[in-house]
This record gives sequence, C-alpha cells and structure tokens, in this order.
Amino acid sequence: MAEWIRRENPARLTEEVGRVPVASAADVDAAVRAAESARRGWYAAAVSERADLVAEVAEAVAAAAEATRPGHPAELLARETGKPLPDCRGELRFAAAYLRWVAEQAPAALADRELDDAEGRLLLRRCPYGVVAAITPWNAPVILTLLKVGPALAAGNTVVVKPSPLAPLTVPAVLALFPPELVHVVHGGAATGHALVGHPLVHRVAFTGGPQAARELGVSAARRITPAVMELGGNDAAVLLDDADLSDEAMERLVLASFATAGQVCMAAKRLYVPRRRFGDFRVAYLAAAARTLVLGDPLDPGVTVGPLISADAARRVRALVADAADRGGDVTELGAVRADMDAGYFVRPTLLAALDDDAPAVSREQFGPTVPLLAYDTEDEAVARANAGDLGLGASVWSADEERAFAFARRLEAGFTFVNTHNRTGMALRAPFGGVKRSGYGREYGVEGLLEYAQTCVVHAPAAFRPGGAGMAAGAYPA
Ligand code: NAD
Repeated sequence: MAEWIRRENPARLTEEVGRVPVASAADVDAAVRAAESARRGWYAAAVSERADLVAEVAEAVAAAAEATRPGHPAELLARETGKPLPDCRGELRFAAAYLRWVAEQAPAALADRELDDAEGRLLLRRCPYGVVAAITPWNAPVILTLLKVGPALAAGNTVVVKPSPLAPLTVPAVLALFPPELVHVVHGGAATGHALVGHPLVHRVAFTGGPQAARELGVSAARRITPAVMELGGNDAAVLLDDADLSDEAMERLVLASFATAGQVCMAAKRLYVPRRRFGDFRVAYLAAAARTLVLGDPLDPGVTVGPLISADAARRVRALVADAADRGGDVTELGAVRADMDAGYFVRPTLLAALDDDAPAVSREQFGPTVPLLAYDTEDEAVARANAGDLGLGASVWSADEERAFAFARRLEAGFTFVNTHNRTGMALRAPFGGVKRSGYGREYGVEGLLEYAQTCVVHAPAAFRPGGAGMAAGAYPA
C-alpha cells in the first residue's frame, strides 16, 4: 500500500491542497533507470537542439504563469507554500525567463572547442554527467528546481527530481511540460532523498536546502564519489553606510528584502547594520516603510504581502527565537498590518528586534522567518568584522549613495553575492552566478557558471609530435 504525503494549506489548516504518493526504493530505482536509458540518446542531440527544447518549455512555463482558470499553477503554489499569489506568479515568470536565458546561452557556453596548431590537435568537449539527482526545497520550489533541470538538460543530462514534501504539487505540474523520458519525479522525505543520491546510476547531485540534509546527503554522495552542488542557507548582513539613502522607496525595498516569503528565503536580509549616529532616523524610516508594505494574511487575499510560515515547526521555531530575544532584554516591535485569522494557519507576526548582542540566536543564526535584528555600529571596520562573523557566507548587501564606496566595502565582505542598494530578489540577475562561500555551500546557480555545473570537460588530444610528419619524441619523455 502506497504511503501518501498530504499537503495542507498553511494559511487554512483544514484545507488539503493535494496529495502525492511516497516513492518506494523500487520506484526510485525505476525512475533512475528510465533516466539512464534516455541519457545517451539525449546527449547525441546537438546542443542547439537541446537548447530549442528548453526554449519551448520556457514558453510553456511563461503561459502557465499567466493562467487564470481555477487551480492554475500560481494559485496552487500559493496554496501549498503560503506565498502571496503575485509572488507565485512572479516566481513562475522568473523561472520562464531563466529557461529562455539558458536556451540562448547554452549553444555557446556548452559548445565543443577545438585547437589545431603547432602543439597538436586538442578537442575540449563539454560532456554531461549522465543522470542528475535534484533535491529541492519548498520556499521557491519552481525556480529552484528549474535552476537545476534547465542547465542539466541543455548540457545533455537527464534528471530525477525529488521535491520537498512541504511543496510537492506545483513542481511536478511544471515538470510535466518537459518530455517525460528526460525528467522524472520521485516524492518523499529523507529516505527517498538518500535512495536517490546513493543510487549507483546517479552521477551528479544538485541540492538546495539546509545544513542537516546537506551533511547527510553529502555523505551518501561521497560513498559513491558522486560530485554535488550545494546551495545552503545564509545569515546575510545588510550594511548601511553613513550616506545610505533612507527614502521611502529604499526603505520599502529593504523591508521586503527581509520579509518577502515571510522571511523564508536563503538570501533574505537577515541582519541590519546601521551607523549608530543614523540609528534613530533609520528606525523611524524603516517602521514607516514596514507599516506601508507589510500586510499579513491569506496568500490569495489581494494586498497581502506576507503569508503564513510553511509548517507548525517553523512557526514554533521563529516564535521561540523572538521569545528568546525578549528574554535577553531585546526590544521587539511588531510590524505592519494583520489581516489574518492568526489561528487558522501558521501565521507569525513580522517583528523588528533591537538592543541585542551579536551572539543572540536571533542574530547569529539564520532565522528563516519574519523577524530581523537591527544592530548599531560605530566604524566601518567593525561593521565588516561583524558582517563576516559566523560560518555562513551566502549573500550580503551594502547601501550607500556612493557606488565606488559601496563596491570597495563589498570587496571586504565574505559572501558569494553582495548586492548594492538592494538585497534579495530585486538584486538578482540571470547572468550573475549565485552561491555561497564558507558553510553556505559550493557550486553556483545562474550565469554561465550555473550552466557549466552540469558539464565536465573531456579531452581528445593528438600531440603534434606523433601526427603525420611530426618530430616524434623519445618514448617515456615529458613534453617540452
Ligand atoms: P531541507 O534541507 O529541510 O530540505 C531540502 C530538501 O532536502 C527537501 O527535498 C527535503 O525533503 C530533503 N531532505 C531533508 N532532509 C534530508 C535528509 N536527511 N536526506 C536527504 N534529503 C533530505 O531545507 P528546506 O527546509 O526545504 O529549505 C530551507 C533551507 O534551504 C534554508 O536553510 C535555506 O536557507 C536553504 N535554501 C538555500 C537556497 C540557496 O540557493 N542557497 C535557496 C533556498 C533555500
């Protein structure tokens, strides 16, 4: 008897949004074998042909993003994740734009290169790995899945995806737009993830998620010597320099950089560092911006900008962080308006925390929820040291009226991606590689680097010495 994952609407707990069957070990094996049997034929297609397929799917995803019939993908995404409907449409549109970008860039980025000169003839092939296992989270499930599937297919791999059990419905609906022999889906939690990553016919792992799963999956992958891309969490510092713009527009951008998706974003602004002499002005401007932008409520309710958290565990964890901050003597200020029936779902009121030391858990750990600490600093050297403290190094931001100054400051930050005068989704670019340093992971998504994660360079070499008419070389000699 199949076991089922039932997904409730996190904004209305009595509503079941849908259910999916948990894959058994035999189901995982069948999916990997099906992907394996399709991979050689797929790689035999020219890269331009593979890119054309990605382009076609991009248009289908773009159309799905605009659908309005009941149960359309953006609505399904809102109901299973609790993310406001316009954000869900935005995620689908962005995913389509990314696939278009992959289709445009892949032919040049993944083309074979050949050199034929006095040293010999050298062919550099961009070869696929084979079957890619993609293990994805729930917070931006469509884009975080297509960031793996798009480049993997363009490079000639086939893919088996394991979506998060907390968002198992929209991802397969979108993946159904790809040819079924190339992209397979298996559902489940840790056990399914392990069966997939540890499968002997999987040759590349792409993971986005938290540190615990990363460690465990990393061990399974290492047992098979399977290389992995790991996109993990962050505790991004947003550092305002003393000339930062405190206009309404800038402050609204900063507020949503922390509170979009109820703060459950890897690259959310998770610590705000403000010069002490501007602290009072900043706080007033920030609270006013939060009052204008943050409306907590049902994700399908127009005007709502912050939905519930993903699960009861997540809500408990964030409430505990805020309670701990209060116990330590921190100030807790509730933000924005509430339009939610707080008991109907996993709702947590957005809060700004202040008067905390950097070692308070709400500062030193990834909150992954709708709360953010505001911290005063005295010198830029001190701000750099505090921003760089800790094990994580995903994103960061610098806010200044002087771009040169911002870039000079950014060079001192230990972060894979530093935004200037913005943070989080408004600062992304399809061409800009994204990923962490330190314990925030390894490998990159987006950009040409993100495409090349799914290809390995294989060489064919005819040294000039042994080509017809070549000078030859003593047996066993090193080339000069
Ligand atoms: P998670 O690690 O709990 O789950 C991610 C995926 O791994 C899910 O599919 C889950 O079922 C699977 N999984 C969980 N435990 C496993 C195990 N022991 N073995 C095998 N598979 C396992 O993460 P989440 O709660 O879905 O996402 C939140 C985390 O993801 C946060 O830390 C966040 O910062 C990070 N994140 C990073 C990025 C990025 O691009 N760097 C993007 C989004 C989220």
